[in-house]
Amino acid sequence: MTHTPMHQWCPKCGAMLPAHLEECPRCGTRLKGAGADAGYTAKDIAQITSVILAFAIVPLCVILIVSIVCVSIAR
Ligand SMILES: [Zn+2]
Repeated sequence: MTHTPMHQWCPKCGAMLPAHLEECPRCGTRLKGAGADAGYTAKDIAQITSVILAFAIVPLCVILIVSIVCVSIAR
């Protein structure tokens, strides 16, 4: 059970506005309310992808190095 706010406040002019508005009708400032889904930009996605890749590649490299060491010791 989540309570969705009925109103939001314009950060620029302080007007009380319906929560679904994307833009303040008084001063034209863009509001967070409806545009929350578009919060991820291409830069954010690239950064997240690189972090995920780093977390995937580091263990693979460790496994590869350990297996190479094991093979070289066994011979
Ligand atoms: Zn405003």
